[in-house]
Amino acid sequence: MLLVQHLSFSGMPIYHYIAENPEEGCPRCRKGFDLRRPVDRPALTHCPLCKKPVRKVIQPVNTPRVTKPMSVSDAKSAGFTVLERRSDGAYEKL
Ligand SMILES: [Zn+2]
Repeated sequence: MLLVQHLSFSGMPIYHYIAENPEEGCPRCRKGFDLRRPVDRPALTHCPLCKKPVRKVIQPVNTPRVTKPMSVSDAKSAGFTVLERRSDGAYEKL
């Protein structure tokens, strides 16, 4: 089993949020803001500052769609750290 992890990806993906109704939002969410959030947390539904509804903006950059299996060398050249899970459960850097 291969675990491919991006160097800038430390388990907390950055989500981009923007106000549902930009004219009602505060300056922060009107223009949109980025939020680093653990993946296991539910999506943010309201601006932390003005409590107005916000929606998550899907950014292709942060959600890469892998259309073909990536080889180790491909991953490395793309700036990924490739770790192989050993039988004892530890990850070994390739
Ligand atoms: Zn706001």
